[in-house]
Amino acid sequence: MLYQRSSRLFAEAEQVIPGGVNSPVRAFKAVGGTPLFIKEATGAYMFDEDGNRYIDYINSWGPMILGHAYEPVVNAVIERARKGTSFGAPTALETEIAKLAVSMVPNIDKIRFVNSGTEACMSAIRLARGFTGREKIIKFAGCYHGHSDAFLIQAGSGAVTFGTPNSPGVTQGTAKDTLLAAYNNLDNVKQLFEANKGEIAAIIIEPVAGNMGCVPPLEGFHEGLRQLCDEHGALLIFDEVMTGFRLARGGAQELLGINADIVAFGKVIGGGLPVGAFAARAEIMDKLAPLGPVYQAGTLSGNPLAMAAGLEMLKAIDADRDIFTRLDAKTVYLENGIRQKLDDTQLEYTINRRGSMISVHFDANPVIDFTTAKNGDNETFKKFFHGLLQEGVYIAPSAYETWFICDALTYEDLDYTIEAVGIVAKTL
Ligand SMILES: *Cc1c(COP(=O)(O)O)cnc(C)c1O
Repeated sequence: MLYQRSSRLFAEAEQVIPGGVNSPVRAFKAVGGTPLFIKEATGAYMFDEDGNRYIDYINSWGPMILGHAYEPVVNAVIERARKGTSFGAPTALETEIAKLAVSMVPNIDKIRFVNSGTEACMSAIRLARGFTGREKIIKFAGCYHGHSDAFLIQAGSGAVTFGTPNSPGVTQGTAKDTLLAAYNNLDNVKQLFEANKGEIAAIIIEPVAGNMGCVPPLEGFHEGLRQLCDEHGALLIFDEVMTGFRLARGGAQELLGINADIVAFGKVIGGGLPVGAFAARAEIMDKLAPLGPVYQAGTLSGNPLAMAAGLEMLKAIDADRDIFTRLDAKTVYLENGIRQKLDDTQLEYTINRRGSMISVHFDANPVIDFTTAKNGDNETFKKFFHGLLQEGVYIAPSAYETWFICDALTYEDLDYTIEAVGIVAKTL
């Protein structure tokens, strides 16, 4: 495939946009090469500026669970746009999507809409701190909760020490309130609670992690977290920005049978427009301004175009009782196909999957946390990525990302992908 136009557009973008992109992972830095500039997308396919077609396994990093340019969403956005694109005043549409979301997700009474997953997570921890009157939070290494300061923290030396900033610009003052634990490691979390008695407001976690590849929770992990939170009066925040409306109608809470105290949403809930949300039972949500003292606001929050898109997306998911069964079946089919192809080679690999989230790691050992995720052979991944791209299969340009399966994928697309994996794997 040729990427002449993409290369030229990238060079042009680099002149006026840092790194040529508005979000770093798009720049292909982890895999090398020139990022594709996308011209359009429909269903399971994306087309770049050079006219190449790809089967898309990124799906805008999750939102396009029904495929690109899903007609009811597109039509709703066009129709709303004609009536004005933003008012800064309430609309009936906001209540409609709120009611639907609350009816779909377990354990929440009220929801507030924001503009991104970052905002949702940032607001969720402020709310947890305001509700509990405590300052510290526990997060897990390798989990991503957006780019707000409190989350750009890496483990310090030793499991029970404070975190340290992992980006310049994040202050030590902020870092000291974020404690780091290893994913799937209950002992770590216990130690943190013991060492910080009465100080921890909340645990925030991706219930099925998707930002270090797909890393599902081990048996009993979430039950343990729930119990520790209850024992210590802390809140359990499920960051369902990726898993919400993807793993089940009610998200990971439903899938795993765990009740979270606060849930953050993004991605699917906006149908491809910039939307995030956070939700909880009324007792917690009523702490928010204007009812309560915890401040949170947004000029474009609940924007009519975004709400129209999100509403059509949630309606489609709500109405289709088989969608998650279908997505699961397609993803299992893909997983089995890839396994067969990789088994024909000498490559060492692990495939993790939960629902329609799946990732291939080039390491034979189980991937259960950030440390084991980092053991993957990145050089092999880079070749795998570029090989698949040449075959017209577009997976995320980083070994630490999940592939997202969308419902627009046909079994022919999956067969094509499996064949492509077979062709590429032989060259690795
Ligand atoms: C994508 C993501 C976020 C951040 O959402 P943005 O809309 O990119 O700000 C937060 N948490 C998780 C789990 C995510 O996958």
